[in-house]
Amino acid sequence: MAATNFSPVSSSLSQPTPLPRNLPHTHLSLPSKTLPKPSFPLKPYFSQYLTASHTHEAPLTASSKNPISDFFPSNKPHPDDHSVDFDDDDKPREECGVVGIFGDPEAARLSYLALHALQHRGQEGAGIVAVDNDVLHSVTGVGLVSDVFNESKLDQLPGDLAIGHVRYSTAGSSMLKNVQPFVAGYRFGSVGVAHNGNLVNYRALRANLEDTGSIFNTSSDTEVVLHLIAISKARPFVMRIVDACEKLEGAYSMVFLTNDKLVAVRDPFGFRPLVMGRRSNGAVVFASETCALDLIEATYEREVFPGEVVVVDKTGIYSLCLMPHPEPKQCIFEHIYFALPNSIIFGRSVYDSRRKFGEILATESPVDCDVVIAVPDSGVVAALGYAAKAGVPFQQGLIRSHYVGRTFIEPSQKIRDFGVKLKLSPVRAVLEGKRVVVVDDSIVRGTTSSKIVRLIKEAGAMEVHMRIASPPIIGSCYYGVDTPSSEELISNRMSVEEIKEYIGSDSLAFLPMDSLTKLLGDDSPNFCYACFSGKYPVEPRGELKVKRVGDFVDDGITGSLESIDGGWVKAKPKSELEVGSA
Ligand code: SF4
Repeated sequence: MAATNFSPVSSSLSQPTPLPRNLPHTHLSLPSKTLPKPSFPLKPYFSQYLTASHTHEAPLTASSKNPISDFFPSNKPHPDDHSVDFDDDDKPREECGVVGIFGDPEAARLSYLALHALQHRGQEGAGIVAVDNDVLHSVTGVGLVSDVFNESKLDQLPGDLAIGHVRYSTAGSSMLKNVQPFVAGYRFGSVGVAHNGNLVNYRALRANLEDTGSIFNTSSDTEVVLHLIAISKARPFVMRIVDACEKLEGAYSMVFLTNDKLVAVRDPFGFRPLVMGRRSNGAVVFASETCALDLIEATYEREVFPGEVVVVDKTGIYSLCLMPHPEPKQCIFEHIYFALPNSIIFGRSVYDSRRKFGEILATESPVDCDVVIAVPDSGVVAALGYAAKAGVPFQQGLIRSHYVGRTFIEPSQKIRDFGVKLKLSPVRAVLEGKRVVVVDDSIVRGTTSSKIVRLIKEAGAMEVHMRIASPPIIGSCYYGVDTPSSEELISNRMSVEEIKEYIGSDSLAFLPMDSLTKLLGDDSPNFCYACFSGKYPVEPRGELKVKRVGDFVDDGITGSLESIDGGWVKAKPKSELEVGSA
């Protein structure tokens, strides 16, 4: 779908109408098993939805003073731009996670906890911005949430309104100044933003802004949003956010904060998830995944709909439509790999999806075997589904070390192959003499798969049958997921049979594309499958993917294609390969 299909409609702001006080807070909450799916197509205008019974004691008031953003970088050492990250796992990399909280006196501490729950979405940096007395205070740093924050850092973030971000750099390198949330001051106050996704027209927007005098401080695509807000002439302020977002193309689930408002926005295609919940004290919470709501005891209420802007302030919650699109394109990879299995994403249980993916593989690609194992952690639920359907025991044949972090030393060529053993240890008692089915969520370059197969065989397995709980990845993602260029994707260069030979397994099967769409049923047109089909809902328009520092360095786990086991296997040209269609 071409980007020109974005047809902005006039966005108008509805007046918030407080809900009756006696309306229970849970009136829109449903048990996770029966969560409603968003109804599509979107109505052109969202009705006034609900109102929080906010409990903050001192409502924020507008102020004419110019807030100053305090910046407290973590005193932890951080990799400079030239450091090399060897923690490349031959997986699409997680994107980012965002959280926003309005109306809780512990907003920053709750954000901190929520970021912990979202840590799997980004480990390169974390930050929280909170509002106190109309001043935006920010703490950001490079590293894990637990590296960046401590008690004294959180003490610097008082107030009942906060946003937070965990970063994985899909655009912009990993330097400290790129760690979000970003805060900018302008004529009427300050605004903070945290963004999950990738803007496909970032370069064009930035070039236009620079032509007209904007000066950029970071290499992140998110900064263009702040510049667009600053130059907007729309009133009131929230309409500046709408005005800015109408110029964006690509993927964005964002939370904004001003001195008195929390705003959540999801792009019209809804590529990245964003959910809304509420704590028992009435505080409103937005988060990338429901697992963050669970941790801070917020009840899931609904998704922020594709193309929706939800504004929360002391008068209530109101919703307006950014740009309705009849057919959302939500990222199916959230269900395959990114999200935690205990999350509800796009109205579906991630656990249920993965288990069904495994069941489909057992039904459509059966093989005689003695044991089913998973590549931990993301292959576990699909492996459970496979084992249950096949009637074969699931066992823990590979143990993942959770203590192998990034290393910033370059392993010598001789010890590179130890890398995968650092992360995954085979269990000989499970594998020896067995015909083993090993389930993984995806194959990207194929380099890790070849090492895993070899590990399992070295542990004594008689046969190794690889089952992949996703279709073959043939295209790079431009919507906030760090995948290699399409030339580096093994399924873009080899047939399934050739990949089987390359990784050394006795058989190999992927989740068939038509089975995936059949499983999704009526909802299937509402998902993006571009990395499996090459059909991009929003064309990248010639923009180059921004790579992160340290991509594609041989860490002994992934390795450059040329360095693995004697080199690259020549594959058929893409035109000769069968490509699944979405
Ligand atoms: S291209 Fe793939 S990873 Fe990217 S949004 Fe679409 S389904 Fe998700």
